[in-house]
Amino acid sequence: MELWVKEIHQDKTGLSFKVKQTLFSGKSAFQQVDIIETIGLGRILLNDGVFMFSQADEFIYHEMMAHIPIFTHPCPKNVLIIGGGDGGAAREVLKHQSVERVVMVEIDEMVVNACREYLPTLSCALNHPKLDLKIGDGVDYAATTKERFDVILVDSTDPVGSAEPLFNADFYRNTARILSDDGILITQAESPFYDSDVQRMMLANQRAFFKKLHLYLFPTLTYPGGLWGFGFASKKYSPIRDFNSERVKTSGLSCQYYNADIHCSAFVLPTFIADNLKGIIDPL
Ligand code: SAM
Repeated sequence: MELWVKEIHQDKTGLSFKVKQTLFSGKSAFQQVDIIETIGLGRILLNDGVFMFSQADEFIYHEMMAHIPIFTHPCPKNVLIIGGGDGGAAREVLKHQSVERVVMVEIDEMVVNACREYLPTLSCALNHPKLDLKIGDGVDYAATTKERFDVILVDSTDPVGSAEPLFNADFYRNTARILSDDGILITQAESPFYDSDVQRMMLANQRAFFKKLHLYLFPTLTYPGGLWGFGFASKKYSPIRDFNSERVKTSGLSCQYYNADIHCSAFVLPTFIADNLKGIIDPL
């Protein structure tokens, strides 16, 4: 008997992958957590039945989340990751020698433990000596920490449940407060096809606190519509004008998706996406 794992998005779109076996299934205080071995995309993490990433395509998401801000900032030393309990974003951040400390605040320890056991190619970073993993609410952390960061990555689930406050103005005010004077905030910014209202709302919520505000795009095998966005909010730097492509070439970093040309082209928006964000984000 064939078995398929399916995600239904907004009760109108479905995405499904053929299942080899279920590796982990558990319910935490925050969500249902499953790790499924699929026939075509390797292992997939699901939170509350929503595909987080697959082994086949996670490199795109995590490279694009980490390397764009780190190659835009002249010398990022302290990085905060909110969410990201699988460790993929941390793995990419820690490839940069300039980074001295990464604080990761993940609310659900079940995600961390399940990924440590079944997704070692991502969770390998969780044991890195520069990483300080805290199990807790990123909303509270941003509101109370005395630490300062050069880059903040909000690698969260969709704006529901515990992740919902990670999309509102109070949270962004706090991220701006704990960012250094030239800091950069990257936010998981949903689908330009199915969540254009969320993209507009979350970027409008960031507008008051940041000098430069952009959206950049990347392809995905595991999210509905196949195209996804990250918000880029900066107190000082333009991701294009202040980007020195030579740094990528001399960094010795070898990525499977990210490169200096992709860095720049990711910010070029199709007309329908640019029109949706007119008056909210900045021209390049
Ligand atoms: N790449 C995935 C995506 O784009 O949907 C998300 C990666 S990661 C699995 C998302 C993580 O955010 C989850 O592990 C979830 O527990 C965590 N999370 C949700 N709300 C949070 C909060 N308020 N504070 C910290 N972590 C949170």
